[in-house]
Amino acid sequence: MTTDPLPDRPFPIWHPFTQHAILPEMVKIDRGEGAYLYTPDGERIFDGIASWWVVTHGHRHPRIVEAIKAQADKLDQVIFAGFTHEPAEKLADKLLALAPEGLRHVFFSDSGSTAVEVALKMALGFWRHQNLDRNRILTLEHGYHGDTIGCMSVGERGVYNAAYEPLLFEVGQIPFPGVGAEQATLDALEAACAKGDCAALILEPLILGAGGMLTYAPETLRAMREICARHQVLFIADEVMTGWGRTGTLFACRQAGVSPDILCLSKGITGGSLPLAVTLCTPEIFNAHYSPDRRKTFYHSSSYTANPIACAAALANLTVWEEEPVMERVAALCAAQQARLARLAESARFENPRLCGTIAAIDVRTDGAGYLAEIGPRLYQHFMSRGQLIRPLGSSVYLMPPYCATEADLDAAYQAIAEAPEILAG
Ligand code: PLP
Repeated sequence: MTTDPLPDRPFPIWHPFTQHAILPEMVKIDRGEGAYLYTPDGERIFDGIASWWVVTHGHRHPRIVEAIKAQADKLDQVIFAGFTHEPAEKLADKLLALAPEGLRHVFFSDSGSTAVEVALKMALGFWRHQNLDRNRILTLEHGYHGDTIGCMSVGERGVYNAAYEPLLFEVGQIPFPGVGAEQATLDALEAACAKGDCAALILEPLILGAGGMLTYAPETLRAMREICARHQVLFIADEVMTGWGRTGTLFACRQAGVSPDILCLSKGITGGSLPLAVTLCTPEIFNAHYSPDRRKTFYHSSSYTANPIACAAALANLTVWEEEPVMERVAALCAAQQARLARLAESARFENPRLCGTIAAIDVRTDGAGYLAEIGPRLYQHFMSRGQLIRPLGSSVYLMPPYCATEADLDAAYQAIAEAPEILAG
């Protein structure tokens, strides 16, 4: 058999969230260790955004690596419809023991977006199977929940999804509860819920990630939860980003004493080593689908649902949480970021410093704000030239490092951020 040589084609790999016309060169990474990524020639880059918010303890945590190897040697993959396996069973038990009160069922999938799609389908199925006409989803302004059609529908509309607008479904959007605007949010939520057609509210608790690292108070989260409960509107907490210690507690909902009806987890669930996600729900939601009537089956699956190797990695991650001082590392990282952020905020070139647990963000003062702010790519290049993987959201610069980052690592990252306005001016 002869094979034709491939025609000369640029960019055979189409990278995510990448405009190849502006950023033609990808940085090749060969190895990861702790808080660092290494190029093939040994250059090291500080992973200031935990490789898109997934790596919690650091790259290649030995316990997680060991668990992956052991599981790969035993059972790599098995269909999860009609079959089960020990890593998934053990993981489900442990997750339910850790989860906010009232959550009793675990549905596995493989990314944050699928966890959210599952949550939306659970909410719609819950009402539909009781013959109740509640289809409307409520969302929070500036929210982000992923890039599939359902996730984009419940996220903020804008440059990310303008091309797909014709396919997105309508939702009820509640204004973001910025400082001083909390009551307006609660009033809008109350009014929307009172209409009686809402299936669920979905939100990111305490901090909106891709929307610009926007924070709001735990009391507001609790008040929103109470309004939903009063109107029987299901409350979906998307903790895909906020879970696993990012906000200073294992789950952000804990800071508000809130138990959602549905909880989405992914990213740090495997310590950031392999793709896995779960959607947890209450018995009421499970029971609405539990029936001899096959039409009430929860019709959702992906091929790799509850992949055994990913489940083993997640179990090892939970062991790390149980046996290592992870919460102390998280607290130390919060404190270390707080001090450095405060120093940065003294400069008139920055504004809106915000901190939510291990996540620190600040805006570079600029005329053109928003995701497409011209300075975003220039800032990115500046950080890369300093060996820092920091990906600004427009003019908002944030750090979300792995929990093993040291004071010296942070000093270097903050130094690069402090220099940024000057570099841009030059
Ligand atoms: N939900 C939130 C809050 C997120 O931040 C993200 C991704 O950043 C997602 C959902 C989608 O997760 P994934 O990229 O794994 O599909």
